[in-house]
Amino acid sequence: MMEKLFLNELLETVTKVAIAGHTKPDGDCVGSCLGLYNYIKDQFPGTKVDVYLEPIPPEFEFLRGADKIKEITEECPEYDVFFALDCGDESRLSGILPCFQKAKKRICIDHHCSNTAYGDINYVVGDASSTSELIYHLIGSNQITKETAECLYMGIAHDTGIFQYSCTSPDTMEAAAELMRKNIDFTEIIDRTFYEKTYPQNQIMGEALCRSKMDLDGKLIYSVITFEQMAKYGASSADLDGIVSQLRVTTGVEVSLFLYETGRNSYKVSMRSKSKVDVAKIAVELGGGGHVRAAGASVDGTFDEIIAQIKEKVRQQL
Ligand code: 5GP
Ligand code: MN
Repeated sequence: MMEKLFLNELLETVTKVAIAGHTKPDGDCVGSCLGLYNYIKDQFPGTKVDVYLEPIPPEFEFLRGADKIKEITEECPEYDVFFALDCGDESRLSGILPCFQKAKKRICIDHHCSNTAYGDINYVVGDASSTSELIYHLIGSNQITKETAECLYMGIAHDTGIFQYSCTSPDTMEAAAELMRKNIDFTEIIDRTFYEKTYPQNQIMGEALCRSKMDLDGKLIYSVITFEQMAKYGASSADLDGIVSQLRVTTGVEVSLFLYETGRNSYKVSMRSKSKVDVAKIAVELGGGGHVRAAGASVDGTFDEIIAQIKEKVRQQL
């Protein structure tokens, strides 16, 4: 699905551009969207460019352009070109989907192997570390300012688990090295946006770890956070990032599952694996998507039903 995309040639021919990412924007989503936004602002000053995202986590607000992100409303102009970034299927564009659909040219830039190729051009590289890395390669290092570099570096760092996950390649490190040369404060970016947790975030993670259960001879670990627990710590779903990754590093574990309640008998499921199990496959079967080692879905059912269902799918792959 890696169709040809000549980004600069395309941008030279248009005047109204929109950019959007997936629902519940994470580091790569925000980094790639604002990275492309800043690049267009700097290199194509005559072009009108709008970014649409759901509210972003406060730790990303230092990025240039974060204060220009547009709220998703019913009304939206018709754009010459609309970029959907880091978004594996149309439904994850959520409220901005109608606006994307009516654009003259729809472009999908993504690294989810489950991507459904819903654009007019689909630049999808399933084994790339991040959408931010893809944006970097499309732009080329010469044209990148410090502010664009901050966005793209943050996105790459987040989706690679700080240059650790198997999606990290020599190309990723070369991209990161070039971005580092733009004089960005990479230590601060990683500390403030990735490792730092608020006290309630740490407390609720502690609770999730404490209550976790092991199964499949220690190969599977899972935990859940309910509405009641979120209320107890004054936490929201955005405060639960990182729990599934912490579960995954348990010795002997191959797959970690983390669920949080989203409604009566409905849960958001996050899955991570170490080296064998393809969790993207399981997520797609559950109506979601993602990557081989990190995937998710929204699932209806009781906690016990969902765990039993996923446990069986993991067992089959082990
Ligand atoms: P997380 O577990 O951090 O929410 O998501 C892990 C990966 O799976 C991300 O790349 C994310 O885009 C993808 N993902 C998570 N939930 C869903 C979902 O409901 N649908 C799809 N298509 N992908 C998801
Ligand atoms: Mn991503």
